Amino acid sequence: MSMSHAEKQEAFRQGLLEHRILIQTQVPGIFGHAAPFDAVIRKLEARIDREVAGEAERVYFPPVLAREVVRSTGYMENFPTLCGSVHSFTGDGALHSALVERVKQGGDWGEFLEQSQVVLVPSACYPLYPTLEGELPPGGKLFDLVGHVFRHEPSDDPTRMQAFRQRENVRLGSADEVAAWCEGWLQRSIRVLSALELPVRLDLATDPFFGRGGRMMKATQRAQELKHEVTVALFSEERPLAITSINNHQDHFGHVFGIHGADGGYAHSACIGFGLERIALALFHTHGFELEGWPAGVRDALEL
Ligand code: ZN
Repeated sequence: MSMSHAEKQEAFRQGLLEHRILIQTQVPGIFGHAAPFDAVIRKLEARIDREVAGEAERVYFPPVLAREVVRSTGYMENFPTLCGSVHSFTGDGALHSALVERVKQGGDWGEFLEQSQVVLVPSACYPLYPTLEGELPPGGKLFDLVGHVFRHEPSDDPTRMQAFRQRENVRLGSADEVAAWCEGWLQRSIRVLSALELPVRLDLATDPFFGRGGRMMKATQRAQELKHEVTVALFSEERPLAITSINNHQDHFGHVFGIHGADGGYAHSACIGFGLERIALALFHTHGFELEGWPAGVRDALEL
């Protein structure tokens, strides 16, 4: 009898832990990275460095983001269940005693906290856009960044982590410039990931917009072909794993943050996001738990 999607997923999770590739924590979807996993992620980053070297301006942002960005971009309308909001204690001595009592009891101490100015970054490119208010240079801009992101979706599926890293390139410019850049990466991402001997496929995709309004957003996104994913069928053909996504935001961020093109109109933007943990997981699933046993072509491509 063949194994179900869920059984294959659980067997893979057990294998990752037994071979000390991932380290289990107390929370589903939060994993430590053991040496082989950490090594593969570093090599993947170096591979992407070689691919995009010299093209883009490298920037860095910490894993927290102004809560105002989440408000102004409509994130809570579209993805309310995924957001991680940061709250801290700001009360007096009496309130502190009540807080400590609640903490000791192991209860929910949320009511004693105040919402801070920051949330956890939901997508690596979000912190960038508000810094770009104003006019872009002719030809637009290209940025390269890596960031920790958080999505509140606890799961036993090792490929659905709550905290992970996205390596992104972000293009801003005219509608034509941005569309052409996306088009280029559809082929280029397949070439880069195929060289790792992963059985990749390019799929039209949608973001997990929330609720009834979300169905409309998904339909529009699909009809306009604004999101593509590079996927690998790890556990089943029906529910493949997205390891990289290419997203055309059109003028959404340009409009929200007042970013203008050289022609005066709102800038368009797009990003390619490589899911570093997911690519690493696809590699371990496809080529085995022992790095030494991976095909020579893969080891060469990653300079392992
Ligand atoms: Zn992005």
